[in-house]
Amino acid sequence: MVGIYSINQYDYDKIFDIVNNIFNEFGLDKRIKKGMNVVIKPDLTPSEEGKDFSSSNILVIKAVAKKVMLCEANVTIVDRTEGIFNEKSINEEYEKLGLLELEEQGINLNRDCKVVKADVKSDSDIDKVEIIATIKNADFVINLPKLKTHMLFGLCGATVNLFSSITSESMKNIFGKYEESSKISKIALMVARSIKNQFTIMDGIVAMDGNGYLNGNKVNFGHIIASDSLTELDYTVSKRICKMYKQLPIISEIIRVSQGKTDMLDNIEVREEKTKYKQFKFPLSVEKLSSLDKLLGKKVWPKINEKKCIKCKICVLRCPTKVIEEENHKIVMKNRHKCTRCMHCVSQCPVNAIYVKKMRVKISKKQIQMLNEAKGQNGNENKESIDG
Ligand code: SF4
Ligand code: SF4
Repeated sequence: MVGIYSINQYDYDKIFDIVNNIFNEFGLDKRIKKGMNVVIKPDLTPSEEGKDFSSSNILVIKAVAKKVMLCEANVTIVDRTEGIFNEKSINEEYEKLGLLELEEQGINLNRDCKVVKADVKSDSDIDKVEIIATIKNADFVINLPKLKTHMLFGLCGATVNLFSSITSESMKNIFGKYEESSKISKIALMVARSIKNQFTIMDGIVAMDGNGYLNGNKVNFGHIIASDSLTELDYTVSKRICKMYKQLPIISEIIRVSQGKTDMLDNIEVREEKTKYKQFKFPLSVEKLSSLDKLLGKKVWPKINEKKCIKCKICVLRCPTKVIEEENHKIVMKNRHKCTRCMHCVSQCPVNAIYVKKMRVKISKKQIQMLNEAKGQNGNENKESIDG
C-alpha cells in the first residue's frame, strides 16, 4: 500500500499530524517497540545557499523522530557524507544543514563512522560495498528521501536514498566502473532491499525536477508519501509525475525485478486525495544520450564553461574516473575516453558551469522525431540536457 498525503507547506504541526496518521495506518506504532534502535535515513545533501530543496526538510525529520520517541525507541539520524566518511565531514554536514539543534531535543545524530562490507549479489564484478554500520545494524530503518529527479537514475526517491547508505567511496567505484544506468540501477535496488525492517516516508512537500539530484529546479509538489515497500512507492510516485515513467532507469529495474508484471504494480492500493499531479521535467538518461550519439554520429560529452567556472574543484573531487583536473589554474577535462557519463559533475557543479555540449547538425524529419523522443522523458523539453 502507498499513502499520499496532501500538505502545501512546511508547518510542523500539520506534518506531525500526517506522520501520526502514517504510524496508525501502517501499524508502525506496534512495530516500533520500546528500546529498539531506530535509524532515520534522510537525504542530507547540502547545496548552494538559497536552495533549501535538495535535502529532506528538518521539520519532517523532527516530526518522524518525535513520533519514534513516543514509541519509547531510541532514534538516530544517519546519512553518508560526500567524500571521506569521518567525524569531521559528518559534523560539517550537520552544521551546514542546521541539524545540531535536534540533539538538544534528545534526537541522536550519528557520529559512528564504522562501515560493514556487504555482498552485492549481481552479475557485476563489484561484489562488496561498504554500508554505514549504524544503518545496517539498526532494528528498524525509516527511509526519509526527498522527492527529486536524478541525472543517472531518473528518480532520486526511496530506492536511491537507501542505496546511498553506502559510502561515497563505494559509490565512486560503482559509478567509475559502469556506464549503463541499468547496471547501476540493479546494484542500487539490491543494496536498498538489503536493508532489513524498513519503511519509507518521502518528503515531497517541496521537490526538485530538472538536473537533480543537486542542480535542479524547485517544485512545490505538496505531498508526503509513505509505504512499506520502496519499490511500490517509487513506482507509484513516478507514474504520477512522469508520463514516460517506465523509461526511468530505476523504474525499469523495479519492473524487471517484478518480472515485468506491471499490472501488479499498477494495482497497488494507493490512498490519495488527488487524481491529478504536477508533471516533473526529467533529465536525459545515459541510454538516451547513447541514442543521441548514434543520431549525431559522435559521442556527446559534458563540457566545462570556463567563463562560468569559479574553480571550486567539486567536480575534480567527485569525478569517479578522475577525468577532470586542475591545470595551469584552469579546470579541464582530460582523458575524456575514461568518462562514464555518470553526470555527477553536471549535477554537482554549484554554478551550472558543466553542461552537455551543443552541436550544430543537419537533421532529417525522422531524426527530429527520434530527437523529440529523446527530449524530456515526460514530453517536456529540458534544453540544458538535450542540446547534445
Ligand atoms: S567527467 Fe563528469 S560525467 Fe564524466 S565520469 Fe567524471 S563526473 Fe562523470
Ligand atoms: S564544479 Fe563547476 S565551478 Fe567548481 S570547478 Fe568544477 S566546473 Fe568549476
